[in-house]
Amino acid sequence: MINLPRVYIAHLPTPIEYLSRLTSYLGGPRIYVKRDDQTGLAFGGNKTRKLEFLVAEARASGAKTLITTGAVQSNHCRQTAAAAAKFGFKCTLVLAGGQPESITSNYLLDLLLGANVVWTDRSSRDDDLKLTFLELESKDERPYLVPYGGSSPTGAAAYAYAIKELMDQRIQPDWIVFPTSSGGTQAGLVAGARLLGFKGRILGISVDEAADQLKIKIAQLASEVISKLGIQDIFDENEILVNSDYCEPGYGVLTHVETEAIKLFAREEGLLLDPVYTGRAAGGLIDLIRKDYFSPSDTALFWHTGGTPALFAQKYGRTLGKI
Ligand SMILES: *Cc1c(COP(=O)(O)O)cnc(C)c1O
Repeated sequence: MINLPRVYIAHLPTPIEYLSRLTSYLGGPRIYVKRDDQTGLAFGGNKTRKLEFLVAEARASGAKTLITTGAVQSNHCRQTAAAAAKFGFKCTLVLAGGQPESITSNYLLDLLLGANVVWTDRSSRDDDLKLTFLELESKDERPYLVPYGGSSPTGAAAYAYAIKELMDQRIQPDWIVFPTSSGGTQAGLVAGARLLGFKGRILGISVDEAADQLKIKIAQLASEVISKLGIQDIFDENEILVNSDYCEPGYGVLTHVETEAIKLFAREEGLLLDPVYTGRAAGGLIDLIRKDYFSPSDTALFWHTGGTPALFAQKYGRTLGKI
């Protein structure tokens, strides 16, 4: 794998832990967790890995400002704001969903980290992002667009390197299970797996999009990642494993699937999940174990992608406080 330009932010390798009590409670595969919630940048998460490559690209392009977009409680925006602060960029966040009643969790952290926030809604998000970008350009703020979810081929490549890191940790999981949304994490993982001969299956639990569409996106992005890493190769959507059985209630909507998972991981292992991403993916993992999707002799690695600051958002506290 060729070495792409990179800055060093993340605390790597992230630890892997065996979840013995959860494993025996569920009676299924041996469950491990890889702690990308502990990547070290302003409460961490999977975007920190991507930002190591995105910030390097921004620097090389002579940018002065990082601009990106996401939901009000976006983990990606929070980590981008932190990376901007650390490397001396200004940061503009185009946040969709309207200004919340109270300044909490990721939104609070965005402000502490010095980001300039522009409000939009989901339907005009991309237009407002473009407009804001052009405005920054016209003021000579030299914006670099950090793509949605950090999921350009450059950002996603970080997770190909993460496969190398995992293999060096000498755990050979039969499965990697994690939340998938903009698809960059999964595209990087599958590209890395093919490049390095990693044999485990890589199952993304979709947080908000139907599997058919998401597989096409991920296959396309994985093909771009692998060519960026020096190998011309193509991924077919049929080899991308995505399960979207749990995303029907909508993005960020807590149901018994997420609340049970959050409670179980907390009470069996002292491990905190987030309400939007890892709560849903762990809920899917638990459900699939109960449906005998895995063999009891398998090893499943749950890749914790972060997001825990959202636990403190008012809208989730109301529900989570009751369990
Ligand atoms: C962004 C995010 C994801 C999804 O990662 P993608 O690369 O966009 O698919 C998963 N979990 C958390 C906590 C995130 O913030």
